Amino acid sequence: MIECIFTIDYEIYGNGTGALQELVYEPTEKLAEIFRAWNARFVNFVEVAEFEKIEASGTDRAIDLVKKQIRDLYQDGFEIALHLHPQWCNARHDAGRWVLDYGEYNLCTLPRTRIAQIVEHGLAYLRHVLVQPQFTPLAFRAGNWLFQPTQTAASVLAEKGIKLDSSVFKGGLQHNHNLDYRPALKNGYYWPFSVDANQPDPAGPWVEVPIYTEMVPTWRMATAKRMGFSNNVGMTGQTAGRKMNRALDFLRLRYPLKFDFCRMTLQEMTSMLERVIREDEEEPSVYRPLVAIGHSKDLVDFEAVDAFLSFLRAKGIAVSTFEAAYSKLVPESQPAAVVH
Ligand SMILES: [Zn+2]
Repeated sequence: MIECIFTIDYEIYGNGTGALQELVYEPTEKLAEIFRAWNARFVNFVEVAEFEKIEASGTDRAIDLVKKQIRDLYQDGFEIALHLHPQWCNARHDAGRWVLDYGEYNLCTLPRTRIAQIVEHGLAYLRHVLVQPQFTPLAFRAGNWLFQPTQTAASVLAEKGIKLDSSVFKGGLQHNHNLDYRPALKNGYYWPFSVDANQPDPAGPWVEVPIYTEMVPTWRMATAKRMGFSNNVGMTGQTAGRKMNRALDFLRLRYPLKFDFCRMTLQEMTSMLERVIREDEEEPSVYRPLVAIGHSKDLVDFEAVDAFLSFLRAKGIAVSTFEAAYSKLVPESQPAAVVH
């Protein structure tokens, strides 16, 4: 049984540039309209650290629209989840631009007390935006997918009530940040874990539902559509060592192609699904939640998204959310409590 879970990372560019209206509000408005027309919902990974800073500094008036949009989506049954880019937590606005603190780029490498502070802050801001003092998101996605080393951050987030992670992309490797999700390639479509997101642990309190990937020959990564995106925002000014590390990431024979509904062509998405459909026909009893990722800032080809939703409908594949899927992912659980 296949279900698709669409997720968006709802944020401006990782180096602090860009306007909320254009990169966050408008594309998400259009996306939500398409999903509503199909009576489907997506998961909105709200990057709380940047919105809190932007609101406090008064640098972008569209923050009010963004906050209202998050509330409206929530009221309308879209899932609101936590996304964190901690380089924003000490950010300051200087001479018309944001100066971010790259010393805090990876939440997982910070001391436990600092992680707790950042997570508490983020949750408090989300509750403020939703005007829901009791709200706790079910799902988490780390900034730049960095949920390694997992143990400390996972235990802090679990203490705050978060139960599901979707940061892993199987086969992922980033030398610059010691990210290595290659061990997860041997895992199934989702798995419980405790101290390492790569490592299934049947007794773990967490469930990992990775962003779906397919290992493809490296040349297949370079489609015209993907090349059109500014992958390398913030790359200029990096040291030779960091550039070399990034080059090493790409010097692989096979590379994990993420199921990215903003960057893939319609044909790529439908053929990816056709392969899973064939697998599912062999063994239909396996639950296959396919997590698609997108970024509000990358949303340009709305027709492809609409056509893909039409394809899923024709194939009888449901569009779900983590909240709706949770009782299948963790069968002994109570259904995730959602109060709207
Ligand atoms: Zn992000």
